[in-house]
Amino acid sequence: MTILIPCYNEEESLPMLFARLTTLSENAQLAPDDDDRIDYRFLFVDDGSKDSTRDEIREFASNRFDTGFIFLSRNFGKEHAMLAGIDAVDTDALVIIDADLQDPPELIGDMVKLWRQGYEDVYARRRSRKGESWFKKATSHLYYTLLQKVSSVQIQRDTGDFRLLDRKCVTALQHLRESERNSKALFSWIGFKKIEFLYDRDPRCAGKTKWNYWKLMKLAIDGFTSFTVAPLRAVTICGGIVSLSAIIYALVVFVHTIVNGVDVPGYASLMIVVLVLGGIQLLALGVIGEYLGRTFIQTKNRPNYLIEEEQRPKER
Ligand code: UDP
Ligand code: MG
Repeated sequence: MTILIPCYNEEESLPMLFARLTTLSENAQLAPDDDDRIDYRFLFVDDGSKDSTRDEIREFASNRFDTGFIFLSRNFGKEHAMLAGIDAVDTDALVIIDADLQDPPELIGDMVKLWRQGYEDVYARRRSRKGESWFKKATSHLYYTLLQKVSSVQIQRDTGDFRLLDRKCVTALQHLRESERNSKALFSWIGFKKIEFLYDRDPRCAGKTKWNYWKLMKLAIDGFTSFTVAPLRAVTICGGIVSLSAIIYALVVFVHTIVNGVDVPGYASLMIVVLVLGGIQLLALGVIGEYLGRTFIQTKNRPNYLIEEEQRPKER
């Protein structure tokens, strides 16, 4: 069982994380029942941290045979850091957790139990969204409802990357090489026997979140583009409706002019038509651009991450 921990500037959280992981691993080896014993390996992926995260990881790994690390050459983002870890996994299963202890490591034991019952993707789902504004809750609800409507795969709500993946899922994920990654979409897409697992997400133990509203917005758009091409279809339909109305209105204007002659005033209606059509055209171009941009990045076929330094767990 490998525990994968992507880290980016986590110097403040790491000491606490090390302590809790050590306890977890010790308890798992001391379990009275043979079946409950779990052999944990830790794999830290440092995503180009600028603080002392790397030194802390190196120091921790030097004292343990069960710990490995991968240092990426720069900050590639959590999605790519996770992929670097997933590529390196050679155990029968994998658990992904955040370095800031928002996902309590103590729950991993329970996840393993579900896995041993035969589930291949045990994903943790937040029981509540305490401490989030009603605005965030409402927009998130709306977003997922909409995304589910247009997408053919089952989307998991209120889940993050905290999950246990069986070897089969790991192998499947290793084959998904797209460069614009959205793990939520990928985890949903691979399928396999999934089961949810309710938990209370703790507040971040130290340091600051790396998220801001821009990144959140990018993630939201990524969610759509990686799940579905429905926005392109929506733009087509919208264009169809607008064109149809335009033809009807043109006929009305034509007949009106024939019957009643020319009446010059029409500033307001002209203005509205120009602005609305202009807006829709820009929006449509934007939607096309979002997909085209992703195609562009993908066609460059660059590697998803570059490794600067790497150390595998030592064999006992
Ligand atoms: N992270 C990463 N690369 C990044 C940003 C974040 O590897 O570019 C890691 C970070 O160290 C943490 C996890 O991803 O372990 C989640 O990040 P964070 O806590 O900032 O996100 P939040 O929990 O607020 O969604
Ligand atoms: Mg966090």
